Formats: sequence, structure tokens, C-alpha cells
Amino acid sequence: MDLPKLAIAALGGTMSMRTRIAGEGVIPTVSGETLLASVPHLTTLARFTVETLGLLPSASLNFECLLSVLSWAKYQVEQGAVGVIITQGTDTLEETATFFDYLWDCSEPLIITGAMRSAAQPGADGPANLLDACRVALAENSRQRGVQVVMNGQIHQACSIRKTDSLALQAFSSPIVGPAGTLVEDTVRYLRQRTRQMRLPLPQQTTQKIALLEASFCADTLLLENILELGYDGLVIAGFGAGHVSESWADVLEKIAEKIPVIIATRAGSGSTAQSTYGFIGSEMDLIRKGALMAGFLCPRKARILLWLLVGCGRQTELARYLKEDIRFQN
Ligand code: ASP
Repeated sequence: MDLPKLAIAALGGTMSMRTRIAGEGVIPTVSGETLLASVPHLTTLARFTVETLGLLPSASLNFECLLSVLSWAKYQVEQGAVGVIITQGTDTLEETATFFDYLWDCSEPLIITGAMRSAAQPGADGPANLLDACRVALAENSRQRGVQVVMNGQIHQACSIRKTDSLALQAFSSPIVGPAGTLVEDTVRYLRQRTRQMRLPLPQQTTQKIALLEASFCADTLLLENILELGYDGLVIAGFGAGHVSESWADVLEKIAEKIPVIIATRAGSGSTAQSTYGFIGSEMDLIRKGALMAGFLCPRKARILLWLLVGCGRQTELARYLKEDIRFQN
């Protein structure tokens, strides 16, 4: 019987890490081919095209690299792959998953996975995650579900997933909504309907710079005051609570919002920004009056990805509509 075809792009991360020099820590070393060989069972499920497109810690991936991975993934689907798996580091996975999610327009699943324990550690989770990711990519019920992340036996939608623990095996969660599905023995079970995602056109440029600053107790305004002069094209603030900043930040943000898009998200880790509850200086109502836009459920890092993509395709003036749509799509 002709087995279905899957494509795997390996980008590095803990899944690919080993120690080269004793005592110096693990670094990306293991190729995609070797990862595949670590799970012999996989070759009974599918035929594979594997490419090591990078061997990097995920903190050092960049937008250009993601765009070439995206075009590689689309090419694989054109060549008959029924699904594509990307293996990468988990540190920036919530951002890269969001990036792909805005741009992936195929009905074939794009699955991202990684590992919390390196290949050399006892109980390494990489092989199990890779096997699960392939099972999800092969499952008929994964079609039309866009970009998903498979980690530790759970399936999360790219739009909701966050890294919520630095080192635990259960490092990822989707605040409020929970996982979209789970693996039960070797079957893929979805627990709810897919949240639809807006699609964006490919960015025409990649040089845009979007700053992300977190509001913190009694913080000065030095960095904020220099944002425009430094040439940033957009700004995301991880605000207090429901999307708030101090009075001194609010004053500076008003000036910035006259020139570049400003999004206020919440630094709380879960939940939405408010729109019309608080009226003090620095509150969401005040910041909206001053020209900022509220991120809703989008976390600061995902909001920055959205803004980067919009500026990249010259649609920053449509940001308000996209943020509104985003909330609609969450429902
Ligand atoms: N700790 C990270 C990981 O889980 C390292 C990285 O993101 O590359 O892969």
C-alpha cells in the first residue's frame, strides 16, 4: 500500500540538542534525518521528506527564515505532502506558530512541535512529540484546522497557545480555551471546533521594526521617549491588568500614537484587555482616546507578530479592523 507523504522541516531547538563538550551545555546538533530515525515506527505510517532548514536555538530564528520555511512547506504540499511538521525550539514557538497561522492558507495541517528535554536527557520527550505531531498531521480530522502545536500529548491552536512554564514538560497551555484536542492511544481526538483564523498576504518587506515594551511598577519613560527617534514602525505595550499604563507613560504614548500604530495588550498572561470600563489617565478608555488600539485576547507577543505582518504588507492603517476581526474570530 502506498503510504501518505509527510514533510518535516527541522529548525533546531532542544529537540535537536546534545552536549558536544562535557560541561558546556547542550547545543543544536541533531539533524532532521537523525530525529526521524529516532522513531523507527514513523516509517510504517508515512513516507517522509525531511530537511534540516536550520540548527538554531529558537531565540535566534528570524522573520526571513520563517518566510523561507513557509514557502518550503507550501512547496511540499504542492508536491503531494498531506501534512507538514516543523520541529523547533519552544522558547519562541508561540510567536512562530502565530506567524505561520496568519499566512498558512492550505487545508493540509501545518504542525509545530519541539521538546522540553534534550535528546541526551533521560525521558527525552522529542521522539514522542514527533510521533504525535506526525499522527496529528496524518489524521483526516486535522484538515482545515490550520496551524497547530503538538506537545506533551496535547494539540493547541496556534492562535491561543502560550509557553506558560519555562522548564516543565507541560510547558504549553491555551489560557481560557484549553487544548483543541488530545491524542488518545494512537488516535487524534478534537475537543472543540476550530477557531477560524484571518489570513494575511505575504509581507512585501521584512525590514520593519516593531517594539514591545512591558509596563512595570514605577517605570521611567526613557525608552518610550526614544521609540520614534529610533525608527520603530509600530509599538506594542504589555500593559498592566486590562490594558493600563501609568500617567507618565500615557502622555508619551499619545505622542507616539500620532505617528505609528500603538497596541495595548495585557501582561497578565490570560484574559482580554478592556474597552470601556476604566476612565483614569492611563486606562484603556484614556489610551483609546489618545489613539492606541486594544489587543483584546491577543497576547503582547502575538500582537507584535500581527503588527509586523500588517506593516510588512502595507496594511497598518487597517490594524483596528484586524484587531476587531481577531476578536470576532475567537468566538
Ligand atoms: N528551551 C528551548 C527549547 O525548548 C530552546 C529553544 O527554544 O531553542 O527548545
